[in-house]
Amino acid sequence: MERHDEKIRLVERLKRYGYIRSKEVEDAMLSVKREDFVPPSVRRYAYDDTPLEIGFGQTISAPHMVAMMCEELELKKGLKILEIGAGSGYHAAVISKIIGEEGKVYSIERIAELAEFARKNLEKAGIKNVEVIEGDGSLGLPEYAPYDRILVTCSAPDIPEPLIEQLKEGGIILIPVGRTFSVLIKGIKKGKRLERKEICGCAFVPLIGKYGFS
Ligand code: SAM
Repeated sequence: MERHDEKIRLVERLKRYGYIRSKEVEDAMLSVKREDFVPPSVRRYAYDDTPLEIGFGQTISAPHMVAMMCEELELKKGLKILEIGAGSGYHAAVISKIIGEEGKVYSIERIAELAEFARKNLEKAGIKNVEVIEGDGSLGLPEYAPYDRILVTCSAPDIPEPLIEQLKEGGIILIPVGRTFSVLIKGIKKGKRLERKEICGCAFVPLIGKYGFS
């Protein structure tokens, strides 16, 4: 079967199971080729709904998780987004399609080789509004704060205080919290506090850093 057909079938399944709820997320998932964001050794599994190895003990998230997080982030054109954990750059690419050219994604990755991998993948895909920065994302990225949305694609012991500070009033943060089995938390900033809601159980690689695991 052609790769393109596999992608369409995957998106249809994600819609049927309720992970994709909007046309915006559907169009974005259809327009980004996941096969171009994974190493050649796993390319044939690109449209399986599963995380895949991208090297250095890290993974590209499963498509259903990418779709669900995009829906929960309530993305709109022109938003400024901070992602912690660029990995392959795939999730940032999908977000970039939804927020459009007037929006911007800053994506932090702690492993230099993966930051470079993400940059190359994004460049090949012709995506211009994602900037990949190497560093400890548990500290956030104060130079471009505040952000409309913050997503963390690795699991934290708790929500890092700097990320709450760098979120705009009314902004949304999505972050898995826990050790091996985590809970995906959605926080909406109301004044100085965060209104929190548990979305679902999940499994993510750990957030390593000052406000993460050691
Ligand atoms: N969003 C990615 C994608 O689309 O491929 C998947 C990310 S992977 C599940 C989690 C990533 O978080 C890994 O690449 C890992 O190196 C990174 N990471 C872990 N701790 C980090 C930190 N403190 N700052 C930035 N990146 C971190």
